[in-house]
Amino acid sequence: MLYKSTRGTETVSSTRAVLAGLAPDGGLYMPVVFPSGFDYHSVMGLPFTDMAARVFALFLDDFKDIPALVQRAYAGKFDCADITPLVPVGDRYVLELFHGPTCAFKDVALSALPVLMTAAQKQEGETDSILILTATSGETGKAAMEGFRDVPGVRIIVFYPDGGVSPIQERQMTTQEGQNVRAVAVRGNFDDAQSGVKAIFTRVQQEGLPPECRTVLSSANSINIGRLVPQIVYYFKAYSDLLALGRIRDGEPVNFTVPTGNFGDILAGFFAKKLGLPVGKLICASNANNVLTDFLTTGVYDRNRPFHKTASPSMDILISSNLERLLYLLGGEDASLVRQLMGRLAADGTYRVPPAMLTALQKDLPADFADDPAAFRSIARVFAEHHYLMDPHTAVAWTVAERYRQKTADQTPNVVLSTASPYKFPQAVLTALGAQLPADPFAMMDALQAISGVPVPKNLAGLKEKHVRFTDVVDRDALYDYVLSAIRDN
Ligand SMILES: *Cc1c(COP(=O)(O)O)cnc(C)c1O
Repeated sequence: MLYKSTRGTETVSSTRAVLAGLAPDGGLYMPVVFPSGFDYHSVMGLPFTDMAARVFALFLDDFKDIPALVQRAYAGKFDCADITPLVPVGDRYVLELFHGPTCAFKDVALSALPVLMTAAQKQEGETDSILILTATSGETGKAAMEGFRDVPGVRIIVFYPDGGVSPIQERQMTTQEGQNVRAVAVRGNFDDAQSGVKAIFTRVQQEGLPPECRTVLSSANSINIGRLVPQIVYYFKAYSDLLALGRIRDGEPVNFTVPTGNFGDILAGFFAKKLGLPVGKLICASNANNVLTDFLTTGVYDRNRPFHKTASPSMDILISSNLERLLYLLGGEDASLVRQLMGRLAADGTYRVPPAMLTALQKDLPADFADDPAAFRSIARVFAEHHYLMDPHTAVAWTVAERYRQKTADQTPNVVLSTASPYKFPQAVLTALGAQLPADPFAMMDALQAISGVPVPKNLAGLKEKHVRFTDVVDRDALYDYVLSAIRDN
């Protein structure tokens, strides 16, 4: 299948699109012809991995032996056989996406991306090794390190803001095993880490790396089509589970409420809907950084606003990269329109979409936001009423789902996507419950376990005993030199 950039016309194979991540013109890869004629009935009742093989084949058809790739991606890595279990809570459903090796929603996609990347490398006859550089605000870094751990021909360096991730997240990264992985703290905030990494990509694109490095750079960022495709699968899985539970009739629409940051998760739902799954509304939930709520309400995207640090840090984002793909689809696949809008975003931090596009957006994607106090009240209430414990990201979505029902009286079954284990954010969850706060994060996890009766996930409890391997702290301006010396070290 051929892909082209949302900002251009040049086409590449799906294997090339996965290897490159971002298109050379700064756009995101999209299928030249969106797959059609898919019948969702053909995957209902299948196990997650069989569904994944079918969905991958629709979008990544240049890859050889997809069923084997899917097995390698998921077999034995998740703590439950169905990968993304659906849990009824009150009159809603929670789709738990955090059962992977690092207890992060990012695991669903980052278990598959390394497998796809090495397969693409082999098929394309790439002999240089791949160096993945990724800036992280906490969740992506660990999931990427674990996903790429000891994958032959690939190395990964993860950059996180010094003092800017949670103690559990930092420990997850600094204790990561694997010969080909490294985590580095960058002095500054997430934007410093991110712009430092972008500067390396720009410089290497202009000058190239010294040839003796025999290395090409790539990114594990959520703009890679190889990260987006795996996320489509769990929408089908959720629908299949609702059918199996007898909660819906075949063909009945289902709404999904998605805690949104970079817009990958909710965009995957839009892809599932375009493939023919009976998806009703995709409700876009934000925290106090509500740039998307405003955009989907008014048609004006404006990142010129204060940045709020919230209890749901993975949604603290003012530029949602994957939104570009939706603009492309709803704008009639018009690359010049996307180029124009993204040019304004880069220059002025703001753009307005044409009225017809706003109408199309509003038809499918209602939006709202919940601040920390509102999300914390939901954590406490849902635990009191249903004995179900949510993390702060999930709680933002739950709150928005509730308000949506109040505002619209829409009684369509509603699935809330749950993107993190509550044990990843124990301080916020204990605070929401009004419980005592012990001093260290491991004692906090134990306290949560005592309250909820849900055991601490093994991978998180085990961190306490693990040896810290990475302690480097570097200045943002020194990242390029750091990367070069890391390449020469191994
Ligand atoms: C990444 C992430 C999100 C946001 O997902 P996007 O695909 O970036 O919109 C939400 N919650 C958690 C916990 C995450 O890690």
